[in-house]
Amino acid sequence: MSVLSQTRLTQVREVMAATGADALVVTHLPNIFYLSGFSGSNAILLVLGDVIHLFTDGRYTIQAHEEAPLARVHIVRTPLAEACGEFVRSRSSRKRMHVAFEAASLNVDAWARLKKAARRGIAWKPTTELIEGIREVKSAEELDVMRSSARLASEVIAEASDFVRPGVAELEVAAEIDYRLRHKGASGPSFETIVASGPRSALPHARPTEKRLQKNELVVLDLGAILRHYCSDLTRTVFLGRAPARIRRWYKAVEQAQEAAHDALRAGVTAGSVDRAARRVLNQHGLGPYFVHGTGHGLGIEIHERPRVGRSQKQEIRAGNVVTLEPGIYVEGVGGIRIEDEVAVHARGTEVLTTAPHGLLEL
Ligand code: ZN
Ligand code: ZN
Repeated sequence: MSVLSQTRLTQVREVMAATGADALVVTHLPNIFYLSGFSGSNAILLVLGDVIHLFTDGRYTIQAHEEAPLARVHIVRTPLAEACGEFVRSRSSRKRMHVAFEAASLNVDAWARLKKAARRGIAWKPTTELIEGIREVKSAEELDVMRSSARLASEVIAEASDFVRPGVAELEVAAEIDYRLRHKGASGPSFETIVASGPRSALPHARPTEKRLQKNELVVLDLGAILRHYCSDLTRTVFLGRAPARIRRWYKAVEQAQEAAHDALRAGVTAGSVDRAARRVLNQHGLGPYFVHGTGHGLGIEIHERPRVGRSQKQEIRAGNVVTLEPGIYVEGVGGIRIEDEVAVHARGTEVLTTAPHGLLEL
């Protein structure tokens, strides 16, 4: 699975050809993992000809050979950018070489070292989201892993009644979630677990605090697992006690918004149209102003990937995309409600990867 497939290399060479690059310097670690299978924290990858060169340091000698058997591994003592630059220099001929690099992840120091070591005669080409554009379409193997990752996170949220109750601190709930994720085989949470209770649930990206959960308040639980390097992401909203009519009404509206987004989601539509489908429903309920973020995002090796499912996104949804659909409303002083699921887009139809039940949890 993590081994670089010939298809991936072919795809990379295609996008390189399209940008006129003879070589590509990859510095974004998730892209390095995607192309080589190497998951260490210090690496630069160089795609040159039919070969993938992986530059890393002595701590990773064994791991690099194990994880990236198809890459040519260079264990170096100098800064990686310098080693990579020197290697480029050793391979450049009289012809001017065009070398692409990832503008969003090459820092200024590494960039200076790379240029200096490669010396003259190189035409550098900044690129953005070259590999990300390939990653957004998942293979059957990747989908299998993502299914398992989503199922794992769903199992933990299905156990919420075991540990979400009045008197328990948000931080304790978050710790319990993280423990259960790992216990079920995750290598960790895919982002900092969100447990937001009462008025704090109106903060879409609240960090858990020492605040204790209380009776008659909303609790938003947003969590995900990393399983075999792939992220999952789902949200459920709990009410501690019997929810009043207004909360039920709001919950229904968010649920309907998510259904509308799901109905709109299919290969060939724009990401923006999916977002607008959810937004329309919340507007109809007069809740539009409380929906303060995009409807969803792609995910995979990273928790946020292409395509972004936001209002003005013109990007086309393609078979192989996996996106979250997570409309929510956030009412200051009262609380928030969000429902988030992961959906895979197939050539025909869609598949919901998260398996946890949908309704408002009243505990
Ligand atoms: Zn989430
Ligand atoms: Zn999300």
